[in-house]
Amino acid sequence: LPVLAIVGRPNVGKSALVNRILGRREAVVEDVPGVTRDRVSYKAEWLGRRFTLVDTGGWEPDAQGINASVAAQAEVAVDLADAVLFVVDVNVGATATDEHVVRMLRAANKPVILVANKADDAIRDPEAAVLWGLGLGEPWPVSALHGRGVYDLLDHVMTVLPEISAVAKEEIGGPRRVAILGRPNVGKSSLLNKAAGEERVVVNELAGTTRDPVDEQIELGGTIWRFVDTAGIRKRVHLQQGADFYASLRTSAALEKAEVAIVVLDVTEPISVQDLRIIDLVLESGRALVLAYNKWDLLDDDRRRYLEREIEQDLAHVAWAPRVNISARTGRHLEKLVPALNVALESWDTRIPTGKFNALLAELAAEHPHPVRSGKQPRILFGTQASTRPPTFVLFTSGFLDPGYRRFITRRLREVYGFEGTPIQVNMRVRE
Ligand code: GDP
Repeated sequence: LPVLAIVGRPNVGKSALVNRILGRREAVVEDVPGVTRDRVSYKAEWLGRRFTLVDTGGWEPDAQGINASVAAQAEVAVDLADAVLFVVDVNVGATATDEHVVRMLRAANKPVILVANKADDAIRDPEAAVLWGLGLGEPWPVSALHGRGVYDLLDHVMTVLPEISAVAKEEIGGPRRVAILGRPNVGKSSLLNKAAGEERVVVNELAGTTRDPVDEQIELGGTIWRFVDTAGIRKRVHLQQGADFYASLRTSAALEKAEVAIVVLDVTEPISVQDLRIIDLVLESGRALVLAYNKWDLLDDDRRRYLEREIEQDLAHVAWAPRVNISARTGRHLEKLVPALNVALESWDTRIPTGKFNALLAELAAEHPHPVRSGKQPRILFGTQASTRPPTFVLFTSGFLDPGYRRFITRRLREVYGFEGTPIQVNMRVRE
């Protein structure tokens, strides 16, 4: 989906605008178990077109941190968005911070829409007009709080937001898109540098495509891969506070562009909450997953035993992800990433024919019928795979299935079809 990012100083009303655009549907959190995080990106829709709305200002700093924070927002937005909403408080006008950010946005060569918020009534519109002076084109006076002007703004956004994100446009026949993820210091940039080696494809002269400078194309195992948002790995947002927020913003946005994620783990340290959170983000995004256990050269036998136990305990829910033990420093087993990526992507693309799927469902029902609930036995009437990427199944049933029964179906689907490297989803539609 195309990405629309919202940038602005604290208190200009970014959150109110996010809520207004979403129509307060943001409370509808996707049905993924075990996912708790501060949301930074939302699925939004206007005039039947879907897009991803990214609130880059989700972390609001104290007074000293404002400049750095707004600069970081702009930097991230410019790298990752297809269009940017730059929000200014019409009562305050443009500040010195704004001017600095405006320069960055103008240089970015992406559509930027200037939003003059808190224009609660028409009296404010002349003040909004003053913002022409920023050189970002027409200011759009809106009141996020009362809704004034927001729908006109969205109509306008739809005219500048590309139908599909710039990255996805190159999808057809293009290189497959990989995100390298992991907490700081696990070795992401070492891995990227080692993989790139001498083989980095610096210029890519594909006709009619605009290369995103934050991505790199790297040849591995005889094929070109597109590593997305490598800028997020190579340069860091220079912030003390808020660094976590911008890291998860980047992770979410990189996943938006990627088809498969390599989550890098540091084997010399215990698997942490932060590692698990990143894996959760991958699961929530529905992208394919490969786990790279890095710094294998530093592993001793003691630590190794602990590691295996941690994996069994903490990563059982992603036991289906291919595992590669690597050393980004020595280059050990880096070549094994290629078959792992290929397997994961193949699973991600897999489609099970409806006939076969229903034969399997009939077999499962016969072998292990759903327990009777208040005198009734919910039955699966029919099932089909609604989509690939990731494989998503829908079961039409005569009543609600127990969560345990749905897990049983999911488990058996994996046993039969493997789906190595991809999350799968089993949804239910009750026919009453
Ligand atoms: P990033 O923050 O995830 O990009 O991590 P870096 O790539 O900057 O690596 C963090 C530190 O770990 C650096 O000092 C690297 O040299 C070191 N490092 C990365 N990979 C390996 C590895 O496989 N083995 C060893 N021994 N050190 C590594």
